[in-house]
Amino acid sequence: MRKKIVAGNWKMNTTLAEGIKLAEEVDSMVEKNPSKTIVIVAPPFIHLAEVSKLLTKVFLSAQNCAYESRGAFTGEISVEMIKSTGAKYVIIGHSERRTYFHEDNMTLLKKTKLAIDTDLIPIFCCGEKLSERESRVHFDTVKKQLDETVFTFDKTQFSKLVIAYEPVWAIGTGVNATPEQAQEMHKFIRDLIKKKYDTQTAEDTTILYGGSCKPSNALDLFKNPDVDGGLIGGASLNASDFMAIVQSVP
Ligand code: PEP
Repeated sequence: MRKKIVAGNWKMNTTLAEGIKLAEEVDSMVEKNPSKTIVIVAPPFIHLAEVSKLLTKVFLSAQNCAYESRGAFTGEISVEMIKSTGAKYVIIGHSERRTYFHEDNMTLLKKTKLAIDTDLIPIFCCGEKLSERESRVHFDTVKKQLDETVFTFDKTQFSKLVIAYEPVWAIGTGVNATPEQAQEMHKFIRDLIKKKYDTQTAEDTTILYGGSCKPSNALDLFKNPDVDGGLIGGASLNASDFMAIVQSVP
């Protein structure tokens, strides 16, 4: 079933003490303002086990996972390790991972498969660069990102994940996609899912928008029929801003 979700990606921010404080603030705000929206925080790896202990209403996500399940991969964190902290979600394919850590579609496919097999819900990111939008190949880019990864899954596997459309030019830039641009791409993705699987699967898939989403633009983005919530970077580091975004979900 399609769900409304707002997830906060803290990226490489917050010390452990700061992360615990932020998680406590968010959790207590969600407790005081109950809604049907699923609220998720994605702190840095080393916070997961501690933050997991204090969350009561908010779900926990990792920001990444290893592409192998165990063994001699110094510094990597496996899906089993993530799962053992109590996390339920994992962000895969964020554009910062694709750009700075050269993660390609094959790697992302391996990670996503491992996550699903471990009963973690992948939040799978896709999105075009500015040059791709300017040369009007943004639909082709997103289709290729999905074709080479999550669209290789059967319907049962696919139905276990969440998609996040994050235009790279909007991430951390202060320039969000317009509500029309977001809706257009979300509908395009949903139509691809319909063609690849079926109408029910397309209707049931949660597709989040990410890219400079803040309290002032969240409602306009979220009220679109194919936008099911957001993946929030910068604004998730302030509990009040993050909650204002959560409360913008219609
Ligand atoms: C993100 O990193 O997923 C993101 C959407 O960042 P920001 O909200 O800061 O643009």
